[in-house]
Amino acid sequence: MPKTAVISDIHANLHALYAVMADFQCEQCTDVVCLGDVVGYNAYPQECVNEIRAIGCPVVKGNHDEEVCREDQTRMNPIARQAMEWTRSRLDEDSLTWLRRLPLQRIERSKFVMVHSSLDQPMAWNYILNANDAAGHFNRQFLPVCFHGHTHQPRVFAWDGRHSIEMAEYWQQLLHDGEVVVPLQPGLKYFINVGSVGQPRDGDPRACYGIYDSDAATVTLRRVEYDVAAAQQAVLAVGLPEYLAERLGAGQ
Ligand code: ZN
Repeated sequence: MPKTAVISDIHANLHALYAVMADFQCEQCTDVVCLGDVVGYNAYPQECVNEIRAIGCPVVKGNHDEEVCREDQTRMNPIARQAMEWTRSRLDEDSLTWLRRLPLQRIERSKFVMVHSSLDQPMAWNYILNANDAAGHFNRQFLPVCFHGHTHQPRVFAWDGRHSIEMAEYWQQLLHDGEVVVPLQPGLKYFINVGSVGQPRDGDPRACYGIYDSDAATVTLRRVEYDVAAAQQAVLAVGLPEYLAERLGAGQ
């Protein structure tokens, strides 16, 4: 019974990544896929790249993975730029080459699609925040399931052949219960944001990820406790902006 752990937006948060890895092993996931933004914001970029490469899972590129490979980061705002320059200084050449070569999208075992932002313009890094934003994406999604990240907010969008729909009840239940099972109905296409492992932004500081069970035709979104204080300490200890530590505690 293949269960695939779908993780995204780790953002150099090793404490959160370890907690999620332990959780998906407990949940008996046999496969793992990663939707990008392995680095950026937090204190362990090289270590997180090493862990993901050691898993050997399929990975697509996030905007931070792309940005860190640029030598010139003057286009970014000062806080983002400071964090990005520090991140780049911590990555070895081999890791930068690996990040640079990540694909923007990928079809996994003919079953589902992986992308960091959306399939209509993956290079534009659009933020898919509502059903209207998702409509353009659905024109480019030909398999029943596509997973994405980027906004750091778990969401379930569906396409019934004519309309793009946001299934808000699922993320509300996730916020309330820390877990929600989404049954995949035949005839609908799903575009599912699995939230962020390393920097959640939906008000719940716990790490978030998804489990796709292709036999049961379900996607489970889960929250995982991790040592937020230790991750915050690490951010401050390496001299990254205080704001980046604070937002981990707030889940924003
Ligand atoms: Zn991100």
